[in-house]
Amino acid sequence: MQWDKDAELAVAKVPFFVRKRVQKRVETEAEQSGAARITMDHVAACRQRYLHKQEDEVQGFTIESCFGHSGCPNRIDTGENLVEQLETLLRAHKLKEFMHSRVSGKLKLHHEFRVTLADCPNGCSRPQIVDIGLISACLPVPTELPCSDCGVCLDVCREEGIAFPVSGKGPQFDWQRCLACGQCAKACPTGAIAQGLTGYRILLGGKLGRHPQLGQELSGIFSAQTTLEIVDTCLIHFKAENRRGERFGELLNRTGGEFLSPYTLKPA
Ligand code: SF4
Ligand code: SF4
Ligand code: SF4
Repeated sequence: MQWDKDAELAVAKVPFFVRKRVQKRVETEAEQSGAARITMDHVAACRQRYLHKQEDEVQGFTIESCFGHSGCPNRIDTGENLVEQLETLLRAHKLKEFMHSRVSGKLKLHHEFRVTLADCPNGCSRPQIVDIGLISACLPVPTELPCSDCGVCLDVCREEGIAFPVSGKGPQFDWQRCLACGQCAKACPTGAIAQGLTGYRILLGGKLGRHPQLGQELSGIFSAQTTLEIVDTCLIHFKAENRRGERFGELLNRTGGEFLSPYTLKPA
């Protein structure tokens, strides 16, 4: 459906962490009212509801993803429908009811537990500043196939994570620098680099607000199943230890990451 310019601009000013939801809500309501275009009236009606009946809009959690699935060439395709599986998991934790038990007064949107998935390390959906941020990852592996010394992998790697220390011996990877973006394996014309372990990096406890902090990364790349198990463990811990509706990042600072064992947080 077409948007009037002023309506579009008004929604662009909505805080980013609820913008997509507000946009969708305005579109749905305009559609249901039989409107041909979305106007400022639709936006204003939605804004009133968010301002005065915000608690009705709180669902306890949000899940966002980047637009990698719409054809972004940087996307790492893990072959999983992780967002749907995460939604089922988060819903089962009944986080709205839980937050009611911890927060005095009405719930606001900032009380929601936020999970974000980015389909590559560029992180367009900002996985670094939410309670749990996931980044699709693909480790490169050298193969037995011959390297033609074309240098394409060196050009595509933005991290300077590849070197050829011994002539004729193929690529070596610097795992301290490599962000597992998978681009070198995609670009290698001879197959001397292939796609290896594919899954998700996990960042925990990022937030904005009065004391902003970036999420701390767990060491490793995890399968979809293990990622879901780790998210579940985090939610159980969050509900067991939460004081007055604090954010997961504050809680993690207070309790440490031992509850994640056998997994460990990377040193800051
Ligand atoms: S995070 Fe990566 S895959 Fe997703 S939209 Fe951004 S560049 Fe594309
Ligand atoms: S996966 Fe990405 S970051 Fe890692 S070596 Fe290849 S191009 Fe560089
Ligand atoms: S892109 Fe492949 S063939 Fe070219 S230098 Fe790198 S490893 Fe060798």
